[in-house]
Amino acid sequence: MTQSKYKILFVTQHYHPIHLADDRIYIVEPIQYEVLASMLDRDEVDISLLDQRLDRRPSALLETIRRLRPNFVGFTSWTMHVDLVRMQAALVKQFDPSIIVAVGGHHASLSPSDFSDPNIDYVMMGEAYLSFRDLILRCRESQRNVADLAGVAWQDNGKFFSNGKAAVPKSFDLDSLPLPDRSILGKYKGKYYHLWWKPVAALRTSMGCPARCSFCNLWRPNLGKYLTWSPEYIVEYLKTIDEPYVIFTDDHFFGDGRRAHAIGEAILRADIKKEYLFYSRADAIVRDPSLVALWSRVGLKRLRMGLESYSDSELGAMEKGSSVAHNDRAIEILKKHQVLIEGLFIVGVDYKREQFENLTSYIRSRKVDIPNITVATPMPGTTDYTKNEDALIYRNPTYYDFQHAVLPTRLDIKEFCHLYGKMLLKVQRPPLEQIRRIGLWKFICNVPSFWIYFLRVYTSYKHYGYVERGGIELPTLPWIDMRRGSCGGDAAADKKHGSVDIDEVLPAGVPS
Ligand code: SF4
Repeated sequence: MTQSKYKILFVTQHYHPIHLADDRIYIVEPIQYEVLASMLDRDEVDISLLDQRLDRRPSALLETIRRLRPNFVGFTSWTMHVDLVRMQAALVKQFDPSIIVAVGGHHASLSPSDFSDPNIDYVMMGEAYLSFRDLILRCRESQRNVADLAGVAWQDNGKFFSNGKAAVPKSFDLDSLPLPDRSILGKYKGKYYHLWWKPVAALRTSMGCPARCSFCNLWRPNLGKYLTWSPEYIVEYLKTIDEPYVIFTDDHFFGDGRRAHAIGEAILRADIKKEYLFYSRADAIVRDPSLVALWSRVGLKRLRMGLESYSDSELGAMEKGSSVAHNDRAIEILKKHQVLIEGLFIVGVDYKREQFENLTSYIRSRKVDIPNITVATPMPGTTDYTKNEDALIYRNPTYYDFQHAVLPTRLDIKEFCHLYGKMLLKVQRPPLEQIRRIGLWKFICNVPSFWIYFLRVYTSYKHYGYVERGGIELPTLPWIDMRRGSCGGDAAADKKHGSVDIDEVLPAGVPS
């Protein structure tokens, strides 16, 4: 007798009404689900994707579940999505309590206890690709014992446990993973974009970052390791991609200069013609400008770079490990090779009018092509979070979209939001330059969405307290902090399962 296929639905999270910016810049394909899908045998499972960043109908999740009747629903989550994911998990369970619900993604890796929720069965921590196939096989056989799986926390009568094993072994060979399975994109293929590039494909060539900036938690899920795929693997994968634009979503593509050279040369040898965007630190570019020279021949057109500030003292406080002089030199090198610079900057909550003006003049004087300015946010898992935890005035994760001040601002919040909004206007490149770059039609199409964004930022002081005031119908959930014990485990139960609290999987003192 043939067993029917096990049905999996992967879901990406939509935006909350107060989230301001993300989809203005880009929406990239959910590569984490493509990797998970590649681990599974399609003769055994059916995989569907609901991308709520593109399908924003409030009824999309329930309609999809009603139509597909999945056995397993997987969610992914950044910090700002925690409440939304938990509410959608509740919707799934209300519809059919027998559907298995799992949550993974960045926030689940950083603070898994935030998902210790009766409507969630499993939390995937770290890059738990290797365990995922086993988890699915066991769910399919209705075996709930996953105590031997690394990076998987399971619920038992409302309490969560894990075996404390790290999801990514120290010597993990990323090339042993199959190529990501992009067939799961289905109807969404061709709809992903970055600013005026569309369609855009995305892939990762490395995991983690060797740096330790005080405001950043991107290196944490990998326990501080910087792991890479080989040039051969990347070239093989690029050959399967038909989109003209490619984003490497690595945290720091030039993190290993020798490898970045090897990848560039391998792409040239394979004669793959695409346009590329990726992220790099400024100091890596300054150390080896020939990287940019090579990659401009390969097709590098845009580079995201964390410039962060106009001042060395601010960069020092951020433990950025670079200086304004480094940043200026990197800008010169990129401009020399006609690579557009998407400069990432951070507005401090202690900013007064003078600092707003200083940052504005810096960005304008350096002619940063695409300024991307966020508000300093002490994200869970960062040094800044540890330092500022007691001062937080907004703990609801929904506010953690890098556009809202969750710490007290030195200025009145209304003035802060006005100055922040005005700065976004002032740092834009002159219209004629933008028209030359993207064409008149695209420029005109872009104007309304930019003005909507500007007005939303300008008036975003109204958001504070909005969630608490019940400004939307979604009930809010408590922020469950990262401290040990918060997931509700007790010593007796731990002993019974031979398990540890899920927070132990991510030790606080990861060596740098
Ligand atoms: S260089 Fe970028 S990715 Fe790396 S720790 Fe700093 S901010 Fe994070």
